[in-house]
Order: sequence, then structure tokens, then C-alpha cells
Amino acid sequence: MVIKGVLFDFDGTLTRPGALDFPAIKKALGCPLDQPILEFLDTQPPDLRARLEKILEEEEDRAAEICRPNRGAEKCLSVLKERQIPMGILTRSRLNPIRKALERFKGITIDDFDAIVTREMSLPKPHPEGVIRVAAEMGISPEELLVVGDFRFDVISAKRAGAMAVLLTNGGESVMTPDDPQPDYTITRLEDLPALCPE
Ligand SMILES: [Mg+2]
Repeated sequence: MVIKGVLFDFDGTLTRPGALDFPAIKKALGCPLDQPILEFLDTQPPDLRARLEKILEEEEDRAAEICRPNRGAEKCLSVLKERQIPMGILTRSRLNPIRKALERFKGITIDDFDAIVTREMSLPKPHPEGVIRVAAEMGISPEELLVVGDFRFDVISAKRAGAMAVLLTNGGESVMTPDDPQPDYTITRLEDLPALCPE
């Protein structure tokens, strides 16, 4: 299958891991460590949920101030841009922190992305809705989309949508569990991504 578009996760994929300190955020929210944050918030009564969402949003905005482009991210994006391969971002975060963080990327602006889908616009990963929506916005089928991310939910949403999945390990252990769909490719750094999209 020819790859006609690349869809990136944002935090920990296009940015260096760690700016969003998930264990610390979960502690601040009272979210059990083994539960994903958005799904935990869904189980909270409305008043409490609104308060916790505010805390999460503040943490996301703070992370956007300190995050840095991931190793090889600017190069990878520039190569794809030069080859005119449509690029997108799909995140469980919000648009504002993404916009702010992208200002720190050299040679790339928010306008270089053909589609940016956040939790304000779509059901969050691992739901496949965001992947399907980005493919539609690019005018391609999900099968022609390569989805790149550093977390299980990136791979799961990609495979549920029928897209190809790339797990970015950033040099760490694989985060997949035995019951998860397996990624089509595993790479340790973004420099290795353009080679997966042959010209
Ligand atoms: Mg991530």
C-alpha cells in the first residue's frame, strides 16, 4: 500500500517525552496510576470533573511552555514537507498547547499540517474516530495513512481505523501489551520515519 499521508501523535512523539509528567498529573487529579486521565475524568461527578479538567488544562499549558521538539522531529517533518506528503496531528490534548509548542519548531509551522484533530473535535484515542477524520480531511483512505505515536493508544486507534501504525520507542521499552494489536513498524527515533514512506 502506498503511503499518502502521515499522522503524528504530539506529546512524546513530535516533542521530547517528559514535558507532560503523567504520574504527577494523575496524582494531582486523584487518578489511579493505571487509569488513563480522560477516561478517569469521565467517571467523575460534573462539578468535580470541571475542577479537575481545569487542573489538567493548566498542566497541558505549562508543558507547552517547557516542551522541546523531539530528537529528529524537525528534520523528519521537513523531509516529509519537501516531499509534499500530507501531515497531520492527532492528540488527546487541546489545540492551544499544540499551537504554542509548535512555535518552538524550526522550519515548521502549524500551517504545514493538513489536519490537526484534538479532544475538542473528536473522541480521544484509542477510539479510531480521529484517525478516520484526519484521513477524510486529507482526502485519502485510512489504509493509506501512516500513524506514528509513542503510546499504546496511538497504535490501537490506528489499527482500529485500518491505518498503518508505527510505534516510536524513543529508545525505551515497548509500551504495548500482549493483547494489543501490534504495530506494523517499530522505530527508536523519528529520523527513521521517512524511510518508511518510499518516494
Ligand atoms: Mg504521546
